[in-house]
Amino acid sequence: MKNFEVLGLSQPLLNGLADMGFENPTEIQQQSIPILLQHDGDFIGLAQTGTGKTAAFGLPLLDNIDIENRATQALILAPTRELAQQICGQMDQMSKHLGRLNVVPVFGGANIMNQIKQIRRGAQIIVATPGRLMDLMKRREVQLDSLKYMVLDEADEMLNMGFKEDIDFILSKSDGGRKIWLFSATMAREIKRIVDTYMVQPEEVRINPKNIVNTNIEHQSIQLKASDKIEALRRFLDYDEDMFGVVFCRTKRDTQRVADELNNNGYATEALHGDMSQAQRDAAMKRFRDKNLKLLIATDVAARGIDVDDITHVIHFALPDDPEFYTHRSGRTARAGKKGVSIALITRGDNRKIKYIASKLGIEFSKGEVPALEAITQKRLERWSENLIKQSVNEKIDAATIEAINEKFAEVSKEELLAKLLTKEYNAIYKRNSINDLTDRSKVRDDGGSRRERGRVRGGKEEGMKTFFVNLGLKDNINKGALLGFVCDTTGVKGSEIGRIVMDRNHSYMDVQEDLAPVIMTLNGKKRDGHELRVNEHTGEVKEPARDRGRGRDRDRKSGGGFKGRSNSGGSGHRGRRSDSSSSSSNRSGRRKDSSSDGNKKGGSRGGFKGRKW
Ligand code: AMP
Repeated sequence: MKNFEVLGLSQPLLNGLADMGFENPTEIQQQSIPILLQHDGDFIGLAQTGTGKTAAFGLPLLDNIDIENRATQALILAPTRELAQQICGQMDQMSKHLGRLNVVPVFGGANIMNQIKQIRRGAQIIVATPGRLMDLMKRREVQLDSLKYMVLDEADEMLNMGFKEDIDFILSKSDGGRKIWLFSATMAREIKRIVDTYMVQPEEVRINPKNIVNTNIEHQSIQLKASDKIEALRRFLDYDEDMFGVVFCRTKRDTQRVADELNNNGYATEALHGDMSQAQRDAAMKRFRDKNLKLLIATDVAARGIDVDDITHVIHFALPDDPEFYTHRSGRTARAGKKGVSIALITRGDNRKIKYIASKLGIEFSKGEVPALEAITQKRLERWSENLIKQSVNEKIDAATIEAINEKFAEVSKEELLAKLLTKEYNAIYKRNSINDLTDRSKVRDDGGSRRERGRVRGGKEEGMKTFFVNLGLKDNINKGALLGFVCDTTGVKGSEIGRIVMDRNHSYMDVQEDLAPVIMTLNGKKRDGHELRVNEHTGEVKEPARDRGRGRDRDRKSGGGFKGRSNSGGSGHRGRRSDSSSSSSNRSGRRKDSSSDGNKKGGSRGGFKGRKW
């Protein structure tokens, strides 16, 4: 393998690299550095994140700029504030032995005046996010007369994030003979347009995606029920004391929900998403970097470019649609030659997607497992006993106290005492969940099956749903359809997000997608016909009333009447329904007025019902 010496870099930079512990160049560095040191033109580097791109452009850039000249000679554009800061940090480290060099980061969400002050002091290299750089250019705070290099890092990502116009502005206003070095994971159409519009006969280095798969990452998939995913995270954390990872969710709401639930149960985790203020995000990142968190729960956008050392696990709480996102995510672990694990938590419907990701990226997923309760118990008890044995005795405890306690335990044998102590540990684990093995071993279906089929296979509650108790029943002059309509109208939840409804005389149970739990809880205190609602989560079993067995909501729907009448005409919700047990109530006609008296009255607004295939 080549080392850095043969690439033609100057001695001060080699010294910097030695300080950083970089011994051998990565593939993109080997191929790009000699070209960028000699070639006086534009350049394209096609490589994924995590492959060492920063040093690939940073080292030749540092060797090419004039340290004695205080004018801005290079601009580096990066998609996120985090990445801009990391690039700056790495440039500072690499240039440590080079002389007085000023590398200034500028990005949105921070005080622009401070950034302007730093630039005015003489910034030879500015590392910027596109929006903020454009702003500074418009204010004429960035002088471009001496600009020699414009580096676009993660160009595809900048375009994905909507910086197209800003980049066009920056490139078109900075054309005084500067060279463009563009780095991107893909040659998407928009990238091609930038190349064709602004670049002149660029040299190109392409790192074959098959070669850039980081072989230090072990990819696992674990099939389980959606509603067990948070419990799975808890078990990973319970089992592996050294876990330090990032959990990726698809939505900000999920991100917050997962973090809240783990936090509420005493796990050191924090959310990172775009609805948080910059100060909150910085604080979360600091806690994570300082290893005061076990897991950072993040959205793809917020976690982009995070470069934290020693991340042991990346967990995909939900799979991304785009395989490229999978690469970005899993690239947070196994950096700089270390090993890491990327775990995809999938439900049966995800099997096709995971095969697609595997084939696109040329990787293989092994079947992983959520640690079973037995294994966690074993491990925890081992830790518990080791810690107890290691525990030194506090000398301040006097002999008399020890003797008194000894007497108290005179009748208890050592075996018994240990068994009692163990029981406390053991109970703590088993209290919250009694299912030993969460891994879903049911037959793997390739197509995932329809939601209805899945619900049926399992009977009772569908995957990913929670059950709620509602203090409305047949006696309140309501039936299942009207209850559904009322809940949808009042909360904005779609009919398709609600599953089984079981109704009795005094109350009902309703299954709702688990991420909508907080929305359903807002029904508390609302009124329907003067009746104040009480709603809470129900974790026990739900028994259908005898008369109702075998008449699921599916069947109600097929029989027509029900919502169809309501959503089309805004008319009688109960028409033709439940002629058995609730006929008297339906005939009493609470009807539409009943069902929406507290909600809005948008007849036919619930597209969710109409489009449903039951
Ligand atoms: P990058 O793709 O530039 O974000 O780099 C990914 C990670 O690899 C960062 O943590 C770098 O510090 C590290 N890295 C880059 N080049 C090397 C190298 N030649 N030797 C060891 N680590 C490196």
